[in-house]
Amino acid sequence: MGNIKIGFPRALFYYAYYPFWYAFFSELGFEVVASSPTTKYSLDLGVQETVNDACLPIKLYHGHVAELKDKVDIIFMPRMVRVRKMETEVFCPKFLGLPDMIRNSIEGLPRIIDERVDLSKGLFPVWKLCQSVAKQLDKSGVIVWRSYKKARRCQNEFHRYLVRGIPVEEAINAVVTGQSCQKKEEYETDIDLAILGYPYLIYDSFVNVGLFDKLGEMGIKPWTVEMVPPERLEKQGKYLSKSLFWHFSNRTIRSTLYYLHEKKVDGIIHVTAFGCGPDAMVDKLMELETKNTGKLPFMTLSLDELTGEAGILTRIEAFVDMLRLRRKKNENSISHHG
Ligand code: SF4
Repeated sequence: MGNIKIGFPRALFYYAYYPFWYAFFSELGFEVVASSPTTKYSLDLGVQETVNDACLPIKLYHGHVAELKDKVDIIFMPRMVRVRKMETEVFCPKFLGLPDMIRNSIEGLPRIIDERVDLSKGLFPVWKLCQSVAKQLDKSGVIVWRSYKKARRCQNEFHRYLVRGIPVEEAINAVVTGQSCQKKEEYETDIDLAILGYPYLIYDSFVNVGLFDKLGEMGIKPWTVEMVPPERLEKQGKYLSKSLFWHFSNRTIRSTLYYLHEKKVDGIIHVTAFGCGPDAMVDKLMELETKNTGKLPFMTLSLDELTGEAGILTRIEAFVDMLRLRRKKNENSISHHG
């Protein structure tokens, strides 16, 4: 039993829920295998296997599944529908149809567990979800309860790391290895910049072209969606006349409001995937709020498989130069008036 391998593609919801499922399956006695960090190879595999009009994160997910499929006995691919007690908030339709998309495009797949995740109704929905997944793996009884408790503990620990500003991969590593995070060398920073968007775009080390280290070297302190304390994120709903339909979109827009109203930053960058349907609306809303309410500079960074590192960094450097000039101007005008 110990050597049944459950695969977890390192894409999409990996960046939000891996510690939970890693702990759950490991405690049940399975070996959990994540695909390797994204490389040009996994991206190329994904592009080959996916329909043309898919967004970059969906292509990457396909690439990670293709890479894992011969190495594991089962791939865990939950059908993400709702994770909050809110009927109206769902995941992007591409998440909902993901298991079908994968089955139709990739051949030679191992067994797939595509449990539907809908936590919007009833009592103890996460516990019920775990029981149902365990049943598919022929597990029941007290070990399931123990695994569920451990999974919750690990996920909470993961969130605490994220709020402290620990990058997602480091936080995941700390939780799954049981070691605490080493504090990284702190750079001197003079600009606070919010880098907002979906975690699977922001934290994929290949997609983000080492952005966070480079920002540090440039003297920029990055702030992300995951660094907003959950209760503060929730409170931002009061500035919105209506919630959006999509889960990650709501988190992105609420964090924009948080960085405009509560934790003031010098500018906001929205990182988005080229051709992302939900983001057409999110991007416009963010731009309006940032410029009108916050009177702050705003930039959209749209990524696809052809976006090169040089292009991304040049745009960020130009944006940061502008933020520095703006800050200098503001300081001069304050001292002038003082
Ligand atoms: S929200 Fe956008 S980027 Fe994310 S899966 Fe849906 S279409 Fe792709």
